[in-house]
Amino acid sequence: MTIEAGRRALRAYNARRHLLPKCGATTKRAGLPCAQTAMENGRCRYHGGKTPKGKDWHRITRPANADKATAKMGTLERRAKQRAQRLAKMTAEEQAQYRAWRQSHTPGPPEAREARKQQRKQNAEIRARGAAHARSEPSAEMRALLDRITDLKAMQKELTKQTEQMVEDGREECEIFR
Ligand SMILES: [Zn+2]
Repeated sequence: MTIEAGRRALRAYNARRHLLPKCGATTKRAGLPCAQTAMENGRCRYHGGKTPKGKDWHRITRPANADKATAKMGTLERRAKQRAQRLAKMTAEEQAQYRAWRQSHTPGPPEAREARKQQRKQNAEIRARGAAHARSEPSAEMRALLDRITDLKAMQKELTKQTEQMVEDGREECEIFR
């Protein structure tokens, strides 16, 4: 009897499923709207519906139910093993990319995460500016200054030589008068 009731409920749910609100995300590969049924927050479980917000973001939560908790821990262990295997097969570049992702997705209080995000953004901007600066040709003003520096260095060299010569001459004169 209970099985029949369950079937009825499932049939009723499936009959109106297409009317339920859909996930608001766009699929990564096809770029089409996600067809999954949305959760209360407007996203499906694949697109962040089950991901906690705030300080619990990306932090593993333990279900209150002991059986569920055991099952979840088992799943997590299995996934960790699979991840380790995938990681071992990756190229050095892919591994670096993975590590960078892990670093940028560290759980913690939202304020700390936001601060780190801003810091990363700032660092990237500085790096980009540095690269652009290194690539750009020196301006006319800069070139004139560089030429002037070259001239002055040549002049300094010449003066040093002259001074040394004068010192040398002076020494000779002293020796003559001695
Ligand atoms: Zn979705």
